[in-house]
Amino acid sequence: LKRFWEENNMCIFCKIAAGEIPSSKVYEDEFCFAFKDINPQAPVHILLIPKAHIESMNEINDDNAEIIGEVMKAIPKVASLIPELKDGYRVISNCGKNAGQTVFHLHFHILGGSEMGEKIV
Ligand code: AMP
Ligand code: ZN
Repeated sequence: LKRFWEENNMCIFCKIAAGEIPSSKVYEDEFCFAFKDINPQAPVHILLIPKAHIESMNEINDDNAEIIGEVMKAIPKVASLIPELKDGYRVISNCGKNAGQTVFHLHFHILGGSEMGEKIV
């Protein structure tokens, strides 16, 4: 049985950005949408996405560079809205199978709210 969002061409994050699937929205502008991750990996765990369907960082190119720039500019805006992020945060984007990407609509995890523990890099 297909979920209703799989019955047309919009992916789950497109549906969230369009308000067709409920989410805990924290920020929205013309290009971007940010909402709380349903399975938080830190005290604060927000997903920031472009409203446009871009599959992953592999799809970033000259044609969508303006959108990507707007998404990057939204990171400090989102962070400034969350008091728990004032002492810092980490941004992660999993790209492709080996990185464990599970939703193929570009998204940036914004994590914080406590010391992040051991760094990978
Ligand atoms: P990734 O594994 O990097 O592709 O990240 C996908 C993220 O989307 C995971 O952290 C999931 O917990 C999160 N996620 C999946 N579905 C939803 C949803 N409906 N609302 C909020 N977060 C979601
Ligand atoms: Zn999408």
